[in-house]
Amino acid sequence: MEKENIRGTKLRNINILIVVVTVILSMLLGYVGLQSGNAYRELNEASSEYILLQQSAANLQMGSDYLTDQVRSFVVNGDRKYIDSYFEEAEVTRRRDNAVEIIRNNVKDDIKAVRNLETALSLSNELMYREFYAMRLALEGRGYDLNEYRDEIRNVTLMIDDVSLSNEEKIEKARSMVFDEIYQDYKNKISYRINEVINDALSRTNTLQNESSESFSRMLKIQNLVIFIFVIAMLSILLFIHSQLIRPLLANVRHISAHEELPLNGTYELQFLAKTYNDMMQQNQIDNTKLSFEATHDALTGLYNRKVFDDMRDKDIDNYTMIYIDIDYFKQVNDTYGHEIGDKVLQKMAYALHKNFRSEDYPCRIGGDEFAVIMVNVNSNLKHLVSKKIENVNNIMHDTSDGLPECSISCGIAFPDRDNPTGDIYKDADIALYRAKEAGRNNYKIY
Ligand code: GH3
Ligand code: MG
Repeated sequence: MEKENIRGTKLRNINILIVVVTVILSMLLGYVGLQSGNAYRELNEASSEYILLQQSAANLQMGSDYLTDQVRSFVVNGDRKYIDSYFEEAEVTRRRDNAVEIIRNNVKDDIKAVRNLETALSLSNELMYREFYAMRLALEGRGYDLNEYRDEIRNVTLMIDDVSLSNEEKIEKARSMVFDEIYQDYKNKISYRINEVINDALSRTNTLQNESSESFSRMLKIQNLVIFIFVIAMLSILLFIHSQLIRPLLANVRHISAHEELPLNGTYELQFLAKTYNDMMQQNQIDNTKLSFEATHDALTGLYNRKVFDDMRDKDIDNYTMIYIDIDYFKQVNDTYGHEIGDKVLQKMAYALHKNFRSEDYPCRIGGDEFAVIMVNVNSNLKHLVSKKIENVNNIMHDTSDGLPECSISCGIAFPDRDNPTGDIYKDADIALYRAKEAGRNNYKIY
């Protein structure tokens, strides 16, 4: 079957296209999701680190300030509970040490922050010697028993000048030691380091936040683009399916219901099916025509066959003339010239009948060498015309110019308006034929 003229898009190609587009878009979406996830994780980690650094720095600052507050409170009003609170902070609560420890353990990649906090802690620790000194002076100035105090205070060696100070002077010196510029300078240095940690972390987090938000917005753009392409692709597919599959299919259903040929529309496969259907339909029509011809015609002569002849009996046709024709001594033709020549003689009979009778008449081959003609709308008024036709047929059969042996025919005719009808025109024509044979053949008899 020739399918060269089919032009439609192949469904297989569309299928491959859909798969490729889906895979590419899915990979893009996956990439966007992965990148967004990474950016989010980095931002999250940076935020957690910032919070940790900020908290630890604040704790260090608070611990240091708390020590300052306690030592200042003690030297100013002499209440020893402040010394207890001081050491409680320095040795039990240990906010400063814990803060540095936490940062050392958790923020390993930010060496600068760790160094700054360690420096702040060591500055704070250095300051503690000054505070111990101040506390020692204040305790002595207020006449407290030093043995009740901690080694850190007891072990402080007072400078010679300070040993000789009066109690008031010792208290005054102690006070100035925790409020003077040197002390404040230490405090500033500690705060500076701590602030540097906080500021660094903040600016780093800010940078990262900016990068992340840029990355998010970039990913969002790609995501929107992918979704847009997805929607366009979806719409195109829907459009394609509608125009190339659904509409042609519905049209085909309509055409098949109406027993019509299918138009070549839609995808290559649909057109292929339509063309196949059309070819089969045409072949079917040809076969049917052939079959119905074969069912009603004699294969050798092409005349109507016995079946058509018999069917005419059942049809209610008025006013027709029945003619029976039989070739005389046809058996001898076969015997003398062979069956093939016999066949040719039979075909010649068919030719002679076609030549002499009208298209509305029914020339039939009803047996081996037996023929019949049913003439519609003919009665005995046309007796001469019918006789002439029979004579013409007989003359053709006599003619040997075609190389076939000379033959004659015997013929029985029954008109619809005949005298003494038996009631069956077939039978009456047969009786007339019998009489023609009896009368020596090569003639016709009218019933
Ligand atoms: P009559 O004058 O009495 O009709 O004699 P006849 O020889 O024609 O009589 P009969 O009916 O006995 O002969 C008919 C012959 O036709 C017999 C048969 O062999 C031959 N015949 C029947 N069908 C065919 C056919 O299809 N082709 C050929 N060649 N011969 C056929
Ligand atoms: Mg015969």
